[in-house]
Amino acid sequence: MAELYTGNIEIVEVSPRDGLQNEQVQIATADKIRLIERAIEAGARRIEVTSFVNPRAVPQMADAEEVCAALPQRDDVTYIGLVMNQRGADRALDTGRIDQLGAVCVATDRFAMANQGQTSEGSVEAALAIIETARAAAKSAQATIAASFGCPFEGEVAEDRVVAMASALAAARPAEIALADTIGVANPAHVASLIAKVKEAIGAIPVRAHFHNTRGTGLANVWSAIGAGAVTIDASIGGLGGCPFAPGAAGNVATEDVVYMLERAGIATGLDLPALIATNHWLGELMGKDLPAMVAKSGGFPVPKTQEEEFA
Ligand code: ZN
Repeated sequence: MAELYTGNIEIVEVSPRDGLQNEQVQIATADKIRLIERAIEAGARRIEVTSFVNPRAVPQMADAEEVCAALPQRDDVTYIGLVMNQRGADRALDTGRIDQLGAVCVATDRFAMANQGQTSEGSVEAALAIIETARAAAKSAQATIAASFGCPFEGEVAEDRVVAMASALAAARPAEIALADTIGVANPAHVASLIAKVKEAIGAIPVRAHFHNTRGTGLANVWSAIGAGAVTIDASIGGLGGCPFAPGAAGNVATEDVVYMLERAGIATGLDLPALIATNHWLGELMGKDLPAMVAKSGGFPVPKTQEEEFA
């Protein structure tokens, strides 16, 4: 049993990218910027702001350049742009506003083909090239291994495969390696096992974890990932999120739910829960629906009431 972790955990806010990319209704660029501003006001200091992919494949991200042009000028916030290939990397760097390239490779061939038209091995090579491109431009880059815990097309994903990919990526010295449960199938035991093996393989490179709550295991997986040594957790305000190529994928773990759990457990996140809850309500109104996050419905931990309030 891992010791209880009581240090700080960094949350990457992914709502502007993973949270919105599967939404059928096009969100206005100005509203995406407002979401990013509100996340920053709530304390977010690392935000996945968009992806530079083919707009025909992901129409919601067609305004990537416009979003970047309107990003708040903040030296204390790291803006991540997701890219799949050289063309995406060039687009992201050309904006002059992306601090970090997020390269994505996929653990299985069939998902890699569906997601980015290449084999799993090809996706690792592309990620390595993206990391080098970022370095040449004096930017940082991280790499995410999608479908690390299961594949919608191939089912089980061998831990050895993910560890081998992480080792190959580590050779290019990315800022971090992320393991993504892209379709929301992971369980806490699998998370603990895989993160321990990946950590052993990549040495000092930090591990980030990305979970979807598709089957209700999201928060348990976050807890397990931290116990196994992940130092950064992805979360999306409201629990929005999905993957256009992963049938049934729904809901990143909600930022407000993750923050509630961690802060109550004595793990600092630097995020302000009431501000996140207010942003959930704003976002729900904007999108015209109730968002999956739990804590925005219930509120945070009860504040002691005066007797008058109690009997009012
Ligand atoms: Zn995701």
